[in-house]
Amino acid sequence: MKQRPVEAEREHEVAARDHGVRLIKDAPVAALLGDREGRVRRVTWENGETETDCVVLATGIRPRVQLAEQAGIQLGATGAIAVSDRMETSEFAVYAAGDCAEAMHLVSERAVYFPLGTTANKQGRVAGDNAAGGRSRFAGIVGTAAVKVFSLELARTGLSLAQATEAGLRARAATVHAAEHARYLGGKDIIVKVVADQASGRLLGAQMVGAEGVAKRIDVFATALQARMTVEQVGQLDLSYAPPFSTVWDPVLIAAQEMLRELRR
Ligand SMILES: Cc1cc2nc3c(=O)[nH]c(=O)nc-3n(C[C@H](O)[C@H](O)[C@H](O)COP(=O)(O)OP(=O)(O)OC[C@H]3O[C@@H](n4cnc5c(N)ncnc54)[C@H](O)[C@@H]3O)c2cc1C
Repeated sequence: MKQRPVEAEREHEVAARDHGVRLIKDAPVAALLGDREGRVRRVTWENGETETDCVVLATGIRPRVQLAEQAGIQLGATGAIAVSDRMETSEFAVYAAGDCAEAMHLVSERAVYFPLGTTANKQGRVAGDNAAGGRSRFAGIVGTAAVKVFSLELARTGLSLAQATEAGLRARAATVHAAEHARYLGGKDIIVKVVADQASGRLLGAQMVGAEGVAKRIDVFATALQARMTVEQVGQLDLSYAPPFSTVWDPVLIAAQEMLRELRR
């Protein structure tokens, strides 16, 4: 196991730079300047500007709830439709599921807006079953997501340290760098950050970044979160090992054990 003070968040900058992408952060866009044909050619911000031939507006996502509002259906604090675990809205026999609806976060125990296909599919099945007279319940979410940035995998589940603190928990975090599989077979480091509750030792969240083995490994943490496991329990999980797939101590186990040491310090 190697530990370095490099923050996981920086890894994607390195991957982006390797692919010719320059990241300019903390620079709110001041203007998009176009040519005579109306095509955007330059982007300016407070201290600089750059040429461009393409602008992507990534402004986040809002639930489309006008129809529900007009029908008098109750919205939650997030602005999405408030639903029960049977996907019932405030209106009798009207169900909501997917990107228009809230979901119960099993770690923060708050209704959240976390619109993903994984959630939409499960909620849709529950809503459909109940609308047809069934008795299905949606278990809730732990906030699991994965993306690939060029050759780099990034994944998260549960709460970040900031989210856990904001939720009123006394949370701590630990970060490790560990080989994804045996180094003599080309295994490279992945970075695993674990968040846990100081008082109970309960796992609260995890984030990972690395060239491979990240997106699916996060599912171990997601399962542990749903089972309300402590980091001590996660550190003892019987995970598979063979040199092409892992090290004898999988990075998940190493990270959980480091988190446990951190909690005991
Ligand atoms: C680019 C992109 C990538 C994504 N990648 C992922 C991913 O990797 N993993 C993941 O988990 N999630 C991903 N998502 C999110 C995922 O696609 C959504 O969470 C999911 O599709 C939501 O399902 P939904 O059924 O609630 O809504 P939608 O899939 O948006 O379906 C709503 C449907 O309702 C129709 N509709 C709208 N208004 C009306 C109307 N008035 N009358 C009739 N029909 C109407 C729409 O045309 C649409 O077909 C991604 C989303 C995007 C945009």
